[in-house]
Amino acid sequence: MLTTLEGQPVNAQGEQLPPYHPPLPDPQAAQDGSWDPFGGHIEFDFAYLTFKEAKLSERLTNAFLKLWAATLLKNGNGQSPWGNAKALGATIDKIQQGPCPWKTYTVRYKGPLPPNPPKWMTDEFNLCCQDSRILLHEQHQTMAFKEKFHISPYQQFNSEGERVFSNVMSADWAWSQAGAMFIPIVAGSDKTTVSVATGHQVFHPVYMSPGTITNIARRAHGNGILPVGFLPIPKVSKNEAKSDEFAIFSRQVYHACLARIFQPLKAGITKPELIRCPDGHLWRAFYGLGPYIADYLKQVYLAGVVSGWCPKCDAPSHDLDSKDALRRSHAKTDVLMAIFDEDVLWDDYGIQCDYQPFNYDFPPADIHELLTPDLLHQVIKGTFKDHIVTWARADVIQEDIDPVPVYPGLRRFPEGRNFEQWTGNDSKALMKVYLACIVNYVPSRMIQCLAAFLDFCYIARQNSLSGSDLIKLDDVLRQFHENRQVFIDAGVRDDISLPRQHSLVHYSWMIRLFGSPNGLCSSIMESKHIVAVKKPWRCSSRTDPLPQMLRRVTREEKLEAVCRHFSKQGMMAGDTLSYTTMELAGELPDPEGQNQGNEEDGGDLELGPVEGPKVLSSIKLSVTPARGYPRHLGPLAVHIGQPLFPAALRRFLWSELHPDSPLQAHTILVDECPTFSGSIQVHHSAVAYFYAPSDVCGAGGMYHKRIRSTPLWHNSYERRDTVFVKTDPNQTGMMGMSIGRVFLFFSFTFLEKNYSWTFVHWLERESDQSMAVISLDCIPRGAHLLPVYGPTPLPSTFYFSQTLDVFRAYFVNRYIDHHCHEFLE
Ligand SMILES: [Zn+2]
Repeated sequence: MLTTLEGQPVNAQGEQLPPYHPPLPDPQAAQDGSWDPFGGHIEFDFAYLTFKEAKLSERLTNAFLKLWAATLLKNGNGQSPWGNAKALGATIDKIQQGPCPWKTYTVRYKGPLPPNPPKWMTDEFNLCCQDSRILLHEQHQTMAFKEKFHISPYQQFNSEGERVFSNVMSADWAWSQAGAMFIPIVAGSDKTTVSVATGHQVFHPVYMSPGTITNIARRAHGNGILPVGFLPIPKVSKNEAKSDEFAIFSRQVYHACLARIFQPLKAGITKPELIRCPDGHLWRAFYGLGPYIADYLKQVYLAGVVSGWCPKCDAPSHDLDSKDALRRSHAKTDVLMAIFDEDVLWDDYGIQCDYQPFNYDFPPADIHELLTPDLLHQVIKGTFKDHIVTWARADVIQEDIDPVPVYPGLRRFPEGRNFEQWTGNDSKALMKVYLACIVNYVPSRMIQCLAAFLDFCYIARQNSLSGSDLIKLDDVLRQFHENRQVFIDAGVRDDISLPRQHSLVHYSWMIRLFGSPNGLCSSIMESKHIVAVKKPWRCSSRTDPLPQMLRRVTREEKLEAVCRHFSKQGMMAGDTLSYTTMELAGELPDPEGQNQGNEEDGGDLELGPVEGPKVLSSIKLSVTPARGYPRHLGPLAVHIGQPLFPAALRRFLWSELHPDSPLQAHTILVDECPTFSGSIQVHHSAVAYFYAPSDVCGAGGMYHKRIRSTPLWHNSYERRDTVFVKTDPNQTGMMGMSIGRVFLFFSFTFLEKNYSWTFVHWLERESDQSMAVISLDCIPRGAHLLPVYGPTPLPSTFYFSQTLDVFRAYFVNRYIDHHCHEFLE
């Protein structure tokens, strides 16, 4: 159920349109079917494919243009549209759609100069940025977001009547901003490094995204989040960098540049502006500086606090998780600054006084509130990898276990990589298996501590969180805090007061304000770095690369924008050849009437609003047949090495014929069961589909996992996956399920009815029946088991494909993915 703040679209004069009025045409987007500035479909496709898709070098582009010219010359008609790559670039620059050109502003030190001033005091530094207002309008009118945006804040409730927090517009902060039409500006900045043989180069992009689009739209490839500026990075020697003057200067530069970048949006904060939305309508909307994504070091800059203190609360830096901490705010800081001198502010309140945060110019934005949670740096890399994993290992080293074990289950992790170079994805993978691997090596309280933390992490990573999820989140955080005392007791840590780990205490507050942390994580910026920084950098000449990179990014966005414009008019239907064939035959469709376009089809964005995470009802299993042939029962049993299979199948057929019998099939003598002489189709895998909106997933939140049962996986070993089997529909979670290992997926026809079945080996049941034929309908999804490794190392001859055959006991791994974590609640 949705509750929204109401509003009405308007015309270009700002007057409200009547209800259900269709969008008025945009006078700036002429729907005339013209390929301007390109000569036609062929020219546009050539530019798009060579420049944007293939990112060809100038040399190769020139070679292709010559090829084109030579072909035309030989056929004796016309010449190619461009003489060289530069001419092609000039045509792309003429595209009207897309971003405006980048501008460069110069920044320099203006304070008093000492004798022999350091170089940075006299140097000039460049800030490159786009007009943030024009960029916002460009992003906001993207039709691909039509089903993925909310022009006004809303509140969503699940079937239990609980509030659900997912997108920025679903949460309290957007709701509390007065006025119905409101566009929060989600911003973030994050340094990124490109490496070359001769060293490395650092860039500091600032990104911007409309808060009105859904989290999934923001995470998808596209223009949901774009670079709006590149901050200057003053180069100084290590000694100079340590000086107080330089530290103050770099903070001042940082804030001055951010203020410059967001300045064009300022007017729209107090006075509503007309803006075109993805639905094609014009709306009168206010802007507001919204959630800001940054890592801790930059949060310190942004919030004007002393390093080591929390940017959100005034807990002392030596006891960050103190219960007495109070939230910070601009107003409170102003009062403190009026009362105390700089030393007291620094020592007792952790406030820096030597600059004013840029947000002071953008009321009512309060940066202490706006800094978002950052799953990647605070939870995954920070608390998990840098803290818990390191501490647990330090505990083992301290215990003097010799040699220091590579935990048996982690043998594959360190291979070929250095622990220090791990990416966020490596850490996420480690999370899935870590718990089972350290059992027997560390005290059990460490295991409890880690389990509580993993639960926190998996709940926080959901795409939508209900009120009861947030209660659970706080509860597992409390357990984590209680149990982490074990690291102090074991002598691994003297204290635990770490800013990134401390930030977890603010998560449930932040989720209520801004929705799911998944939609505001710095990992979104990290993946954008590849498109906005790393790839353009590779295409540059590496000498003064930034202007070249920005030119490339602008041209690519222009090509993308003009492509959307052509698509809207139905001009991109078919391919170059089919279009040209129709063109020569005079059969092109009239561009008028096509203007709703086919752009909404396809794409990689999720459709529809994100529902609560608990919907598991749409599970189905579809079966893909193995390459090969139907088999008969007897030879098949021999083939798979399972002599019990024919009996199990016959007992199963008996239960099919006697659905109402009080007798259990496995108690019936095989001879009394029907015989089966037909052919059986064997399948080597099955696909489980489930609704898992908390995971990164495809259209509509559907997610699929393949379950395999094959004698020869990758031509090397036998692979028989494990599955959950629903055994008691009246019980929830593991109480109503067993684990089975699939020895055969098969289908056949019996008495004119089609059956899809599975032959499983029960892993949990020791008693009456170890193998059974069960219906695919009983299998909700695949299961992931981790061995109880025991205290001794694995023999070096052990190969992982034997894992499910040789251990005495297994853990059912609920951390393998989010769906499983919720599924086993
Ligand atoms: Zn805090």
